[in-house]
Amino acid sequence: MEMVGSLIIVFIIMAILIGALADFIKRLFKQGGATDRNASMICPNCGTRGTPKSVTGGSMGIEIVLWLCFIVPGLIYSLWRLSSKKDGCPACGMPNMIGVETPNGRMLVEKFHQNQP
Ligand SMILES: [Zn+2]
Repeated sequence: MEMVGSLIIVFIIMAILIGALADFIKRLFKQGGATDRNASMICPNCGTRGTPKSVTGGSMGIEIVLWLCFIVPGLIYSLWRLSSKKDGCPACGMPNMIGVETPNGRMLVEKFHQNQP
């Protein structure tokens, strides 16, 4: 029974490590997070139009240190980072870009991009 328990823990840790690795590779190759004057999303904070980029809370450095020193806090920290991941503005990182077709989005376009049709 103890054997099964530790096997499950090892399996969970492996799954998270593989997930983190896959996420890292995806981020290396992922296009996006670019500013684009004709994009369909606008940032209410700075008025940048573009494709939202993936923003993760916390830092990878802390994550690695926690993993090296203590497995359990590292695990919790990784889970927290995964759960805090959001799509944010490519310019300022604010996680609440809205579509330019929405009423609020249209107001923002007028406010920040007055020269555009
Ligand atoms: Zn912004």
